[in-house]
Amino acid sequence: MNVARLAVRPSAVARTAGSAHSIAGRQPSNSFLSSRFLRLPQRPSLFSTSLPTYCANHKTPSTPSANASPNQQTDKAGSDHYSSALRQNKEWAAQTAREHPDLFPTLANGQQPQILWLGCSDSRCPETTLLGLQPGDVFVHRNIANILHPGDLSSGAVIEYAVQYLRVNHIVVCGHTSCGGVAAAMGNKQLGILDPWLLPLRQIRERNLAELQGLSDEDAALKLVELNVREGLSVVKQKGAVLSAIQERGLQVHGLIYDIGSGVLRELDTEDSEEVIKSRLTAFAVQA
Ligand SMILES: [Zn+2]
Repeated sequence: MNVARLAVRPSAVARTAGSAHSIAGRQPSNSFLSSRFLRLPQRPSLFSTSLPTYCANHKTPSTPSANASPNQQTDKAGSDHYSSALRQNKEWAAQTAREHPDLFPTLANGQQPQILWLGCSDSRCPETTLLGLQPGDVFVHRNIANILHPGDLSSGAVIEYAVQYLRVNHIVVCGHTSCGGVAAAMGNKQLGILDPWLLPLRQIRERNLAELQGLSDEDAALKLVELNVREGLSVVKQKGAVLSAIQERGLQVHGLIYDIGSGVLRELDTEDSEEVIKSRLTAFAVQA
């Protein structure tokens, strides 16, 4: 398996934002998206993108510069990421405690996150950072290509715990540009254990083959990212606990795409028709 060599071109810019809607057609409160977005230093990913293409498109500096991250500068001095990260943890903890003296003592007593984030494992998509939030703000499940298998015990347990016990107010399914898992599903190389994992993506590809084949490679990959988010939203909304929370306390479900090249999130219009909602409730709503 060598996913790193599978070519994918990063998307240039985020598309025009649409408005997100919950399953019940309510306009959601997007206050959790109003925080400032952090622009991350662009570095080539070892897993998810074609290195030469990424570097060429984004002009990643090949020599040390003022834009280099502390880790990059430390590496030039001969240390490694893990050692420097441990040192930085102590500095971060001390600084955070100074700036937010109540944060750690409060978190030690429990968590009350408002957001459940279902995203990709990609290192360039750190949900709490890119939302400008703090520890304790986001309950998280991430996997390769943010795929939600309907019978997956791991993501299913996370969703149910977040909805029933943490009582989150928002569920986010987030895909991203330059996703290595999506690039793999758009190719036809044998990938071992990743093949059954990526199966839902290939099924989406099959169902939308004509449309995808009519697009450029870059646009087709981005389209598959979006279709995968919509598929994930459908899986989330088929869960009885989620449906109950939507009806009983206004839980909102959102679809987002994160543009790695700009650091900006784009909301998908995910409003369902009354017919879809009615059919879904008939088929999937459960009673205790
Ligand atoms: Zn990804």
